[in-house]
Amino acid sequence: MRPPSLVGLDTTEIRAVLADRADAAWRARQIAHWVYGKAVETFDEMRDLPVALRNELAGRFCVSPIEVASQARSTDEVDKLLVHNGDGQVYECVLLPYPDRVSCCLSSQVGCPMGCTFCATGLGGFDRNLEAGEIVGQYLVLQRRSERRIGHVVFMGMGEPLLNFDHVLKAMRLLHDEVGLSYRHMTVSTVGLVPQIRQLAELELPIHLALSLHSPFDEVRNRLMPVNRRWPVAQAVGAMRAYQKKTGRKVTFEYLLIDGVNDTRAEAVELARLVRGFPNVVNLIPFNHVNTEQGFRRPTAERVRAFRSELEARGVNVTERVERGHDIGAACGQLAGRHPGRFARRSRASELTVPVS
Ligand code: SAH
Ligand code: SF4
Repeated sequence: MRPPSLVGLDTTEIRAVLADRADAAWRARQIAHWVYGKAVETFDEMRDLPVALRNELAGRFCVSPIEVASQARSTDEVDKLLVHNGDGQVYECVLLPYPDRVSCCLSSQVGCPMGCTFCATGLGGFDRNLEAGEIVGQYLVLQRRSERRIGHVVFMGMGEPLLNFDHVLKAMRLLHDEVGLSYRHMTVSTVGLVPQIRQLAELELPIHLALSLHSPFDEVRNRLMPVNRRWPVAQAVGAMRAYQKKTGRKVTFEYLLIDGVNDTRAEAVELARLVRGFPNVVNLIPFNHVNTEQGFRRPTAERVRAFRSELEARGVNVTERVERGHDIGAACGQLAGRHPGRFARRSRASELTVPVS
């Protein structure tokens, strides 16, 4: 059994660990600074702690629950890490440097049970939820490898963040309170779990919320995303509208474009109608290649342009995802947590029931 990790505990919880010491409050702040502010991985690096305390802690805890199984760097300087906790289950996180900022893409689950038909993670099945420490641990392990500070976090790695609500929320609180990131720079991308979107809205935190919409038509979305049978388009969009109202934050609609499947003019027209009348933006993501039963393909640049023009002609704010890390399988939807040899493969999505009832 591995000892529990400090990553995942906030300053108050670290203080509780040190409860019998007179200087617990002060030491807890120091430790939290090393763990979250400096992203250290060993107790020896906590230089201003007495050696006796470092040794005592090392006997009871590890700093981070995460070990790096492999690392890949793409030609466009994206780093993808495959990490694990010694239990044979691997998950992925990605460092995304841009000229003006550094962002990272974190996983919230090992695999994903939602079964979207275009997604490598969904096609690979589901193992388990990640704990808050395992989520923040991904940020810290990436920060350690980044020369610049990572100021933005997106939950667009493996898994559906709102299916793991409590741990993802605790991770965001830790990133805010202990690491010092702004909630405005945290993006939760969801498949559209309506009760959880409403629950998140109630917290009134300025977290950026993105809905993976991918079609304004229920019959198309049903085929792409099984969740749509439980919460159809109108309900998902209604929940986003309520979220926008409650938090005052502009919301985003992610729109994956698959050639001949959801990229028609009729779809653009209906999408524009659906998102009219409240602050939002539509983010177009041309399909990243994943082998699917249906043989999905990326539309040509011309088709993407035409779809975009139809939206813009109707007053929609459109952005286009600049995909990074293609050559190392780090682009959106490509994360599948495959590691040659050493780790067990997870169960297949077809053996699971989608937990949305
Ligand atoms: N589960 C959440 C967040 C993780 S997926 C969600 O689905 O929103 C992050 C984004 O990648 C989602 O918008 C998802 O639809 C998109 N995606 C999945 N597979 C993709 C693929 N093959 N190409 C491009 N984007 C993909
Ligand atoms: Fe899960 Fe998101 Fe992939 Fe759907 S797109 S299977 S919700 S990770």
